[in-house]
Amino acid sequence: MGIKPSPPGGCSDSPLRMSDEVRQSLDALDACLQEHRDALVLAEALPPLLAQLRALYPVHRTAFSAADIRLLKRIPAIVEAAEDFSDLAGDVPGVRGDGEILSYLEALQELRVLLQGTALELRVRREIRVLQQRAPGAAARVKAATRVHRLRALELQAWPCRCGEVMTLRQPKSGGQYWGCSTYPRCEYTHQLTDKQKAFLDG
Ligand SMILES: [Zn+2]
Repeated sequence: MGIKPSPPGGCSDSPLRMSDEVRQSLDALDACLQEHRDALVLAEALPPLLAQLRALYPVHRTAFSAADIRLLKRIPAIVEAAEDFSDLAGDVPGVRGDGEILSYLEALQELRVLLQGTALELRVRREIRVLQQRAPGAAARVKAATRVHRLRALELQAWPCRCGEVMTLRQPKSGGQYWGCSTYPRCEYTHQLTDKQKAFLDG
């Protein structure tokens, strides 16, 4: 008698505060990507932020948008690309000859795609311009290769199929491209690319 039912959700953190913590961590991650032009500083700053968000995720799933999750999935590749760029950028002044310039251009284009939307991407672009001016012939050849890199980058960020497996980009001989399930013919699910994905592919 006289015992009142305890209020629902007796947790000390209100749902609002919990999602605030997620939002703050996501903002910190975004600031990191937008501010650091030093590749090694970026590569060191990202893993702790990713670890923090991964720890928050199981408890606060609903606080993460689809775009947030896509970004988080990209972070390990961004860290690796930043480290690779740090190595490559040091070599650029000494790169000589069309063949060597071509291979550096290809590597830098690949890093540029992985680092898309970060401050470091601007530095990668600058190194690409420097090399392109040194060898205009190699620049034309690398343009074709860039599309392959973009395809690969899109696939890395793709949503899984509704069956849970990986989607891959299909390019029929008739032209265009679409998403198809990697387990085809077991799963025949397909869907179109978004306008944003098309624009990204066509650069
Ligand atoms: Zn499927």
